[in-house]
Amino acid sequence: RRATEEAERGLPARTSDGHVVAIGANVNRPDQVPLALREGGEGVGLMRTEFLFLERDTPPSEDEQFETYRGMIDALDGRPLIVRALDIGGDKQVAHLHLPHEENPFLGVRGARLLLRRPDLLDPQLRALYRAAAGGGDLSIMFPMVTSVGEVSALRAACERIRSELGAPCVPLGIMIEVPAAAIQADSLAAHVDFFSIGTNDLTQYTLAIDRQNPDLAAEADSLHPAVLRLIRQTVEGAARHKRWVGVCGGIAGDPFGAALLAGLGVNELSMTPRDIPAVKARLRGCELSALRALAERALAVETAQQVRALDSLS
Ligand code: PEP
Ligand code: MG
Repeated sequence: RRATEEAERGLPARTSDGHVVAIGANVNRPDQVPLALREGGEGVGLMRTEFLFLERDTPPSEDEQFETYRGMIDALDGRPLIVRALDIGGDKQVAHLHLPHEENPFLGVRGARLLLRRPDLLDPQLRALYRAAAGGGDLSIMFPMVTSVGEVSALRAACERIRSELGAPCVPLGIMIEVPAAAIQADSLAAHVDFFSIGTNDLTQYTLAIDRQNPDLAAEADSLHPAVLRLIRQTVEGAARHKRWVGVCGGIAGDPFGAALLAGLGVNELSMTPRDIPAVKARLRGCELSALRALAERALAVETAQQVRALDSLS
C-alpha cells in the first residue's frame, strides 16, 4: 500500500472519468520546494512571503527577495509558482515594521490594506517579483485580504507601474478570496484579475465570526459549514462568468473529503501542505466527477457542518 502510494505521488489528480484537478503545494520557505515536489506537488499554489520578514530585525531587501523568488522559480523548473504578497497584520505581527497597535487586528490594516498604505513594503516586493519574472519561468502574483474592486485597481496600477519601469513581462495577477464581501462580489472582481485562490481559513473566520486562533471555538470553525460552501459556490460562479480559474489554498483543500467536495463545487486547483498531497490525490483518483458534483449539491442543501461531514461515509 505504501509502495503504491509512493508510485502514485507523481500522477495527476485525475478522476476515473478524466477530470483533472491541479494540485499545488503551500510553502512558507523556499527550502520547502523540494519536499513539495517529492510529495507530488505540481507547483507552488501559495508561497506565504510573511516568513521572509519574520525572525529577523529588518525587512529583506529587494535584492534578497529577488534571489529568493528566482531560486524558487529555478527549483520549480517550469512548474507554476504563485507568490502571495506580504500578508502582515491579523495574527502575523512583525516588530520591525512598526505597525500601530490595533484593538481588532483581524479587522484592521491587514494584507492588501497594509500593502496599499506602505509602498515601502509593496514596491520592493513587486520589483523583486518582476525582476524574477524577467528571467523566465511560470510566476504569478497574488494579493491577500482583498475586499473591494478599488483595492484591486490600485494594486494592479502599482504592478503595471513597476512592470513598465523594469521593462518586465506581464505575469498573471490574482487575489485571495478570504473576506465574505469578496466572495459575494466575485463576479465583479473576476473582471479585474486573472485568477482567484480561496483562503478558506480566513473565509471561515470572517463568515462564522470565529477567531481562527481561539481553541475554545476550534470545533465550530469548520470550513465545510454550509454558509462557507455557499460562498465558495458563489466564487466559482463569479469566476466562471469571466472564464477565470479558482483555487483553494486554505486548510480544507488538504482534507481528502474537503478536496472531493471542492472539486465537486467546480474548484480547478487545490493547494495544500506538502504532506497532505498524496492522500488528496489518491482520494480524487478514486472518484467520478458526476459523483463529486452530486456530493457538492447535497452538501449545499443540508443545514449544518455536521451534516456535511456525515456525507463523507456516503460518498
Ligand atoms: C487562508 O486564509 O485560508 C490562507 C490560505 O491564508 P493564511 O492561512 O496564510 O491566512
Ligand atoms: Mg488568509
